[in-house]
Amino acid sequence: MANIIVIGAGMGGMACAARLASKGHTVQVLEHNDTWGGKLGSVEHAGYKFDTGPSLLTLPAVYRDLFLKTGAAIEDSIEIVDLETAFRYQFADGTVLKMPGTGIGRCAEAIGDTLGGNSADQWREFMRRAAQMWLVTRKPFLESELHGLKSLLALSWRVNDIRTIAPTKTLRAMASKYLDDPRLLTLVDRYATYTGSDPRQAPAALATVPYIEQMFGAYHVAGGLRELGRALYERATSIGVKFEFGCTVSNIATEPQVSGVTLDDGRFIPADIVVANSDATNVYEKLLSPKAQQQTTSAKKSLAKATPSLSGFVILQAMTGKTPDFEHHNVFFPENYDDEFDSIFGIGKKVSPVSDPTIYICSPNDSKMTPAGNESWFMLINAPRHDPVNGVDWSDSELKHSYTEQILTALKNRGFSTEGRISWQQTVTPDDLERNTLAPGGSIYGTSSNGMRSAFLRPENVTKIPNLYLVGGSSHPGGGLPLVGMSAEIVASHIGRA
Ligand SMILES: Cc1cc2nc3c(=O)[nH]c(=O)nc-3n(C[C@H](O)[C@H](O)[C@H](O)COP(=O)(O)OP(=O)(O)OC[C@H]3O[C@@H](n4cnc5c(N)ncnc54)[C@H](O)[C@@H]3O)c2cc1C
Repeated sequence: MANIIVIGAGMGGMACAARLASKGHTVQVLEHNDTWGGKLGSVEHAGYKFDTGPSLLTLPAVYRDLFLKTGAAIEDSIEIVDLETAFRYQFADGTVLKMPGTGIGRCAEAIGDTLGGNSADQWREFMRRAAQMWLVTRKPFLESELHGLKSLLALSWRVNDIRTIAPTKTLRAMASKYLDDPRLLTLVDRYATYTGSDPRQAPAALATVPYIEQMFGAYHVAGGLRELGRALYERATSIGVKFEFGCTVSNIATEPQVSGVTLDDGRFIPADIVVANSDATNVYEKLLSPKAQQQTTSAKKSLAKATPSLSGFVILQAMTGKTPDFEHHNVFFPENYDDEFDSIFGIGKKVSPVSDPTIYICSPNDSKMTPAGNESWFMLINAPRHDPVNGVDWSDSELKHSYTEQILTALKNRGFSTEGRISWQQTVTPDDLERNTLAPGGSIYGTSSNGMRSAFLRPENVTKIPNLYLVGGSSHPGGGLPLVGMSAEIVASHIGRA
């Protein structure tokens, strides 16, 4: 059995630590912050509770499996809540589409009832194609180790599978083939942002994201999504994982082989195996010695070719009273969605905050998070990452203030005024996100899926340095709670076999 260090107590780090400890390894997690969870944060104020990261749980089966494999039922620790209405979408023309929770048939009906025409049948067809994509990609790609472009080549002997995932088509192009209504295209575009990407550049295979949401459900966790992190932390500690908080790893010793890590305070902690849950860019550029960096130049080159994922501008608001016609998840689309992606990724214009952005508000229908008769709003706006040199300097407090006002005005123009209702407010910028989670630029998902080869350029979980592994949203298979959980399984299985 090995002595293993995990750098970072994000969901990927903790999930991997728990899986490894349950196999009998000695596991210690070293975390820069004074708490677990990483991007899965939360804030409390005067009885109001806010998730500051994930607000939507999909594919809970990934964490159910993790809990079962490590000796407990997840339901003993948290309550996973199925939402009757998954989303309230408001389009620029004022149309409101209330998308039901689990069930592609129910969702297609709601689409048909609201948008009319052939939209219901078209949606069913589109989801049928997405189902095929999910079947083809789940096992051989998402749940398996990545071997760069070799992974694509390995799929390519199955010509029909390649045809199904249409690797040269973008999400926008694929959706346009099936759907006529521009509002449905807008809806599908949004799913590219679930991987921090632009729908005009992201691969068609992202059609699996709405498929997963509608087929397997959109869930809340009672008390807030951070409760999933708490449950995982407690699971990990109960099977022997040791955590040390407030310590930052500054170097991974790899010569002549992985032998441990050095902390900011100079301490050296020995280990046979190191699993890094810190962002892959930081691992390759900051935590390895120059010699080890030479050994990993191909991984660094792939990272350099990829576009970093978008970030987010978050406004938390304690609201007095209840908003009429509001759901747990609410999305307000703008007139010109393309401008959002042009601004964020600097296409045909300078990278800049989106002037008229999509506004997403999570107002949890959860008495554990909100004083009776009131609401805790988590507002998320897609934003370019923090890049004071070539992009947006989000540490500028004037920008933070004026952008907040701009968004509240945009929301008012879409029929939802917050005037006189905000009893407390806090803003979290991409700069704050970078500082809080050590994610470069505050990128939410590491690298984006922009570009047809993006999925195959993601950092591999098994690095070129023996006994050094990457886990979490910046490595294969990607960001978001389900994929991060899958990356932990891939790493733990590989270590089990090694
Ligand atoms: C605003 C926002 C909204 C989101 N919404 C959703 C959603 O609705 N649904 C969903 O599924 N996902 C969502 N996500 C994405 C999801 O939060 C992430 O994909 C996931 O939590 C990332 O987990 P991770 O394991 O990659 O690690 P992270 O959460 O990035 O944690 C990494 C940890 O490593 C620590 N660390 C880094 N470097 C070092 C070092 N050198 N030494 C010690 N410690 C270090 C960091 O402090 C951090 O705690 C959202 C994220 C954000 C920010």
